Amino acid sequence: MTTSSTAPSVSSVAAYAAPAANAPLEKISVPRRPVGEHDVLIEIKYAGICHSDIHQVRDGWGEGIYPMVPGHEIAGVVTETGPGVSKYAVGDRVGVGCFVDSCRECEACLAGQEQHCAKGMTGTYNALDKNGEPTYGGYSTHLVVDENYAVRIPDGLSLDVAAPLLCAGITLYSPLNHWKAGPGKKVAILGLGGLGHMGVKIAHALGAEVTVLSQTLSKKEDGLKLGADHFYATSDPKTFEELAGSFDLIVSTVSAPLDMDAYLALLKVGGAFVNVGAPEEPNSLNMFSLIGGNKTLAGSMIGGIAETQEMLDFCARHGLGAEIELIAADRINEAYERVLASDVRYRFVIDAATI
Ligand code: NAP
Ligand code: ZN
Ligand code: ZN
Repeated sequence: MTTSSTAPSVSSVAAYAAPAANAPLEKISVPRRPVGEHDVLIEIKYAGICHSDIHQVRDGWGEGIYPMVPGHEIAGVVTETGPGVSKYAVGDRVGVGCFVDSCRECEACLAGQEQHCAKGMTGTYNALDKNGEPTYGGYSTHLVVDENYAVRIPDGLSLDVAAPLLCAGITLYSPLNHWKAGPGKKVAILGLGGLGHMGVKIAHALGAEVTVLSQTLSKKEDGLKLGADHFYATSDPKTFEELAGSFDLIVSTVSAPLDMDAYLALLKVGGAFVNVGAPEEPNSLNMFSLIGGNKTLAGSMIGGIAETQEMLDFCARHGLGAEIELIAADRINEAYERVLASDVRYRFVIDAATI
């Protein structure tokens, strides 16, 4: 148990927020709750920009709560601990991902799958906490969070390249593990953005033969450097002829609807297509694309706290941080446009010192 008397609690912090759907982000102040019995106060050092931030800021998934302070790829340092905290001490390097609370009692929570909590996880932002107060995310200087919803960032990872692992890293690590990407498996990563580039790194480190499926060949050199064995453009119809029946596993990180039938045809018999991209529009498919070849269509959403810690430890062991472009907070709106144009190489990370 550690408490600090030197770092005072903060009640109001600087942040970048969208005041309304589709409005550009601007600097505001948001409240942070007092540090409670089991809470830690984190001085945020870096926050990644996830495409989910853009979907939500623009209300593409609906029910947005404004002003909205996005940010669920948070890396920082503990500066104060509540009296009941046992996991962390002042000075510890910690991360917070997509959720900051859950019921802790349901089957999913007890199984370490807090992201699927039966009562609904409490999102790090764009959500209401147990007291009905809106949550504000990581585009901010400080965050107060229950110690059980923070993870430890291993010493081998610097905080800037670790931040994107809190969403992009776990979102790819979890399905790659679940669907047993590894030696002897042919794995395709569809879309080479923030999620996709971590997928390439992690699948390669797990020992799989990795193919990138990207809209064009413009990122080919990067993809091969990240660990891909092969790189194909999906804008070229020949790709679909050449790769028919090739993959054990395809993980799609694409943020827009896809021609599912065309991609399902790239799976081997018994192969699986796992979707992690979260397009704003529904997608349709012909059921014969699944029936022929006993194929599986699956989804995956981030990962639980224990698996997130496992992913960070794995990434530290293998030296896998994100490839980042560090930006000052006043460039967030510009960065959003580049993400939307698939021009991110490969994650924008906000330097919280500039907020
Ligand atoms: P991102 O950095 O924008 O990457 C998405 C990539 O998809 C782009 O770089 C592009 O890759 C490809 N793409 C974009 N538009 C496309 C289109 N119209 N057709 C084909 N390919 C297209 O986004 P991200 O942060 O990685 O997030 C990707 C998606 O996953 C978003 O929808 C996000 O909300 C979702 N997400 C889901 C979870 C989860 O838990 N399931 C977690 C985080 C994010 P190329 O240039 O290589 O073609
Ligand atoms: Zn995310
Ligand atoms: Zn629960």
